[in-house]
Amino acid sequence: MDLGGFRTLALATLACVWLLFAAGPAAADSCAPGARCHASGAKSETYAQVATQPQRWNCSDTGWSIAAERVFLRIGLAPGHGPEPVRFTTRLTRFEHIRLTAIATDGAMASRDLTEADMIPGTGDWVMSADLPRVPGRLAAVAVTIDEARHPRILSDSALTSHEQARGHPVQYELAVAAMCGMLFMALLFNAVFYRVLRARFLIWHAISAACMVVLTAVTSGLVHRFMPLSLGAASFLSAVSFGGGIATGMLFAADLIEPDRLDRVHRQALRWGGVWIAWWTVIYLLASGPLRPYAATVYYVSFAPVLALFVSFMVAARRRRSRAINFVIAAWAPFMLTGAMRIASIVGLTDAPLDLTMEQHVTLTWEVVVVNLGIADRLLFLRRERDRARARAQVFEARSERDPLTGLLNRRSIEERFDRLYRLGYRAMAVIDLDHFKAINDTYGHAVGDAALRATAEALSQDPDIVAVRMGGEEFLLLLDGKDLARRAERCRRAIPARIAANVPELSRPVTASMGFVEQPSETMRADFARLYGTCDRLLYEAKAAGRNRTMSEKLTLFASGRGTHPKAA
Ligand code: GH3
Ligand code: MG
Ligand code: MG
Repeated sequence: MDLGGFRTLALATLACVWLLFAAGPAAADSCAPGARCHASGAKSETYAQVATQPQRWNCSDTGWSIAAERVFLRIGLAPGHGPEPVRFTTRLTRFEHIRLTAIATDGAMASRDLTEADMIPGTGDWVMSADLPRVPGRLAAVAVTIDEARHPRILSDSALTSHEQARGHPVQYELAVAAMCGMLFMALLFNAVFYRVLRARFLIWHAISAACMVVLTAVTSGLVHRFMPLSLGAASFLSAVSFGGGIATGMLFAADLIEPDRLDRVHRQALRWGGVWIAWWTVIYLLASGPLRPYAATVYYVSFAPVLALFVSFMVAARRRRSRAINFVIAAWAPFMLTGAMRIASIVGLTDAPLDLTMEQHVTLTWEVVVVNLGIADRLLFLRRERDRARARAQVFEARSERDPLTGLLNRRSIEERFDRLYRLGYRAMAVIDLDHFKAINDTYGHAVGDAALRATAEALSQDPDIVAVRMGGEEFLLLLDGKDLARRAERCRRAIPARIAANVPELSRPVTASMGFVEQPSETMRADFARLYGTCDRLLYEAKAAGRNRTMSEKLTLFASGRGTHPKAA
């Protein structure tokens, strides 16, 4: 989708949200039996005082406001209503004090005062409830006086329930939420596994984000109370912190996930600072009191509007640069962003009553985490391919730098580096081999033929798996030998040279022989010393050349002296 497509999508989304809320019914009703009416007052006023002033009551199911320090709610029971209500239930949110007053048909009243500690959090939804006070006779209405409410839905979500109508959702709802928590938890585990494969920072951010989403879903669905009863304050705190934490780390995740060249610096930085912004407003929301209290929830929700805008802008920017990872981010986040936009729109008054979209939030969050995990898997595969390619390139490069290009044997530099390790492994004999009168071969047959002879020599020296053959330079080779019968095996290599050259380079009409200096250092107590062994071999080779070439001079090194032996001239 190009930029134009995104603009259209964004506009269409906004239009839908507007239509959805603007078209809501706002039919006013009188404070009739069966109606829910609400009024605002001062802390000095009682329900009895406000009840006598009908002009102060709003029974229209709109205009829910918690701006006043004390708000009143009157829930009338329609004549002939069903089973007798026994509980007051509403959205879980913080408050200072609630007085429940049960009013009987004969005018008798009974009241009950509640603090946060008296409210029972729901196990099937983000609700809280308390038993109604008992009043003799049939119940006509319940008056609720709420001090210092922090969320308008404490009014708009209020309801009376009977024993039979256990408020909340059926068991299927809880099972669905539990399944979603399980999926979120699995995503968390996948992140840990991914991290073992690739130590990318975005995996840590996503793991934290997924952990926050598990907490958020378990707490706001009420499921957590099945396992670990939480106080209302603790549940409120956990829901705000896990929501803010989940989105903030989600933004850090997005900033790190997008391929380095597929997002501009400004967006990347803005996403990182977005986390700080969310943390700041979460703290304000949690701590707001006094004159800030009535606005805390609205300001908190609205603080997410710029975050939403940033996310849209970020998605467009990364799409324009053809990021692959952004496709997963868009698919993952779009539904959650839509519910976020609807919640913001509802709290600023675009709907009759504020929306929580709790179930929608659980579903869109689970969707987000699962789809993002697919995106991560995709990105990991891509990064792994890149890494393998880089590794293969490095290996080729390394192989090139340690091997002689003409013969494919190890070169001098690499054997000097490996000598100590090979020596410890048991390679304690060394031979230096030099082709005889090789200059004349070059002079007579040309360089190409000389090269072919060198390649054939390398082949002759590579037959024994326990011998490491090295081209030291020019027509000089070095052997390191491990195992038994070292002198004989080195000699076999030297003697194999003329035959191999003759077979591989038929242009040559005369044999090419080689001379060798061979040294064995059987004592394990002797120090590995490449220079010393090589120096000795070189001297022996010189002696072999001086003695008429096509022969081996050898020596056995001991701790105190060296024993010498000269092989007869090879045929
Ligand atoms: P000696 O028996 O004393 O070793 O005599 P030599 O001619 O083999 O020794 P010298 O050191 O005089 O000559 C070595 C020659 O090896 C010189 C050079 O032309 C040849 N040579 C060195 N490197 C290469 C190579 O990579 N390819 C070819 N074709 N010849 C090379
Ligand atoms: Mg030579
Ligand atoms: Mg030489």
